[in-house]
This record gives sequence, structure tokens and C-alpha cells, in this order.
Amino acid sequence: MSRRTLIAGNWKMNGMSFDGIALAKGVANKIKAAGDTSFDMLICPPYTLISSVAAALSGSPLSVGAQDCHTEENGPHTGDISASMLKDIGCSFVIVGHSERRSNYGENDAKVLSKAKIANSVGLNTVICIGETETERDSSETINVVKAQILGSVPDSATAKNTVVAYEPVWAIGTGRTPTNDEVQKVHAVIRSQLALKLGADTANSIRLLYGGSMNPENAKELLSLPDVDGGLIGGASLRVNDFWAIGEGCP
Ligand code: PEP
Repeated sequence: MSRRTLIAGNWKMNGMSFDGIALAKGVANKIKAAGDTSFDMLICPPYTLISSVAAALSGSPLSVGAQDCHTEENGPHTGDISASMLKDIGCSFVIVGHSERRSNYGENDAKVLSKAKIANSVGLNTVICIGETETERDSSETINVVKAQILGSVPDSATAKNTVVAYEPVWAIGTGRTPTNDEVQKVHAVIRSQLALKLGADTANSIRLLYGGSMNPENAKELLSLPDVDGGLIGGASLRVNDFWAIGEGCP
């Protein structure tokens, strides 16, 4: 089953109008200059920039996503943003369950599942993030942790079209450290088997699994050539046009 590589950028809480729009346009220009690419690209700016970035990218194959959404469609949730609002302003994707949401806001698998379900129900595709902490890794719990996160965070209705799973070891995010290629492949293979138990082999074999955690132009090529790695979720390096683009160009 061929899976088209997805290179996704998570800008986190970075970017003002002047530099955010320039960054998005810079990536769009790279795609345009390349003509056809063998990979898809997605950028997830902060909420404040989504509308203007989506407008700036009109006509580009570059997709726009958000970094989170609420579990409800509307209502008394001061400060929150719903999936349908994101869809309304031009998002086609939303990241749910990023480790920074899980740790900063105590979001558990049940909450991530609710977010994924509502996002899919309004027509958004999700990037569902999972991954072990350093303590869990040190106590050899990685496999158990990711299996439980797949069971708890991925909707039973997930398909290869509406769902992408990102394996992001928490200790690798923003640290410059990464697991070995063998470790990444092993975990991704387990994730795919766990998805097969939940969704069936056909869906599991078609769902894209991204690796995230200190991916950069230097390590991307090897990571992206692993059999069960179908792209990257990139934080820091997605804030620089040339680095983000170079990661995509490293696709096999
Ligand atoms: C992330 O936050 O999703 C991430 C992978 O960050 P970084 O690439 O900076 O490690």
C-alpha cells in the first residue's frame, strides 16, 4: 500500500503577521518552483495566523491546520476554539494530543479521542500525537505506552483519509535528541500493528505514520526512508523555509 509522505510543520506559539505570512509564502513558493512534489505539506500556525495564512496560500497545494481544538462544537468555553470554527477559516487538519497539550493541560487519551472525533465529524483531518516520556522510555515502557495511546486516542471510525498518527517521543521534542533509526522503525511497526487490531489491516496499512522530535535536514533523509515512517511532524525546523523545505526534499 503506497502512502504519500506528509511533511507537517507545527509552528507552536510562534509567528506574528509579518513573519508568519512570509514564512508560509516562502514554503508555497518552494512548492511552486518545484512544480510537482512527491510529498504533501501542511503547516499549522497559531490560531491568530490561520485566516491570513490560509488566504495567502489560496491556490497552493500546501494545507493549513490548527494545533488543537475543543471537544465541543460551541458553547460556554471562554477562550477555546472549536473544530468547526477552524474548518470555517480554512483549516483542513488539526493536531490533537500534542505532548505539550497533554502535559501543560492534563489532556488524557479520552480527551484526545473526543477532540479527534469532533474534528472528523466536521470534516477536519487529524494528526493524533502519541509518544512516551523520558521516564517511560527509561523504564522500558515505550511500547506499552504507545499501544495504550493508540487504543485510547484513535477513534474506531478513523480512516487513512481522515487520520494521521504522529509518534513523538516527548524527550526528543525540541531537544536535538532522537531515537535511533531502528528504535523509530520498531515503534512505528508496533503502532501500525496496534492500528490493525483496532481498524483492520487495510486501514492500518494505509494510515500515514509521522515521526516527530528534533527532525531536521540532517537526519530527515534516513528517518523518512524507514519503512513505516510516512513523514514528519516538525517543530523548530518548520520555522525556517529552507530547513522545512530541505526536509521534504529528503523524502525518498
Ligand atoms: C513538535 O513539537 O511536534 C516537534 C516535533 O518539535 P521539534 O521538531 O522542535 O522537536
